[in-house]
Amino acid sequence: MTIVIGFEGSANKIGVGIIKDGTVLSNPRRTYITPPGQGFLPRDTANHHRKCVLDLTNEALEQAGIKPEDIDCVAYTKGPGMGAPLVCVAIVARTLSQLWNRPLLGVNHCVGHIEMGRMITGAANPTVLYVSGGNTQVIAYSQHRYRIFGETIDIAVGNCLDRFARVLKISNDPSPGYNIEQMAKRGRTLVDLPYTVKGMDVSFSGILSYIEDAAETMITAGKCTAEDLCYSLQETVFAMLVETTERAMAHCGSEEVLIVGGVGCNQRLQEMMGEMCEQRGAKLFATDERFCIDNGAMIAQAGWEMFRGGHVTALEDSWITQRYRTDDVMVTWRD
Ligand code: MG
Repeated sequence: MTIVIGFEGSANKIGVGIIKDGTVLSNPRRTYITPPGQGFLPRDTANHHRKCVLDLTNEALEQAGIKPEDIDCVAYTKGPGMGAPLVCVAIVARTLSQLWNRPLLGVNHCVGHIEMGRMITGAANPTVLYVSGGNTQVIAYSQHRYRIFGETIDIAVGNCLDRFARVLKISNDPSPGYNIEQMAKRGRTLVDLPYTVKGMDVSFSGILSYIEDAAETMITAGKCTAEDLCYSLQETVFAMLVETTERAMAHCGSEEVLIVGGVGCNQRLQEMMGEMCEQRGAKLFATDERFCIDNGAMIAQAGWEMFRGGHVTALEDSWITQRYRTDDVMVTWRD
């Protein structure tokens, strides 16, 4: 029996989760929500996390019904992410590891998403689409690495959606992406937007500046509604993601797709990916917002795999890094 506690805080969510051999014992989370039209800045986000993290840790232990001495390992997000929030969480993990006298493990955030998705859905060897506010990658496992087949060459798809929401002053509560998704359901007219797939890679910055410039004039001229723009943006960027995912599947001969990351709980993205999978005779795996959106349990789950595989992070190596690529991690726990 191995129990791991995981600390996540690489962006505007702070989460503490506890995993015991494939079971989520607890996974509380808080989100730093900014007013409409505003994004979240590193220092303010770190302040938010600092205020929440100790209460959240107690909550995680209480919900799991365990004591610190039951924990075998303390896992935390080493990167990638925003500097100040990452530091805040790393300090807490480092301190608790010393107080409780338990080994520490620095986890790659993207690998956390993948391992959580695999554990929850039971997907054996999927082609992974990782889509969030900070990351957009098409990934497949081969020879002890999560290899990146395609990725964004500029901003993440979630960042494109979040920044579009700011233009229209769409609420950030519970998340801009969720509110865009609801508005898109009422969209009727498909507005032509740039479609930017370059080989296996995608680009969103041109689409964003196009729609940022056009939004106000188009809406005031009565050419389309805000809902139409939400709908058109989703259809366009999701089609790009489905296209590159399908190409990676064809290349790998893969029959499974796993969608992870915050944008992964978007029902329309799941629906479009599901259609593609059906045409290929493949299977789609996805999770809901509890496990898709950044959370502590995903760090605990990747930590659980790593710890059992013999990984430990020495205190002097327990720093954070804003840039930490998915394929930097040696995946020793898979064949
Ligand atoms: Mg994430």
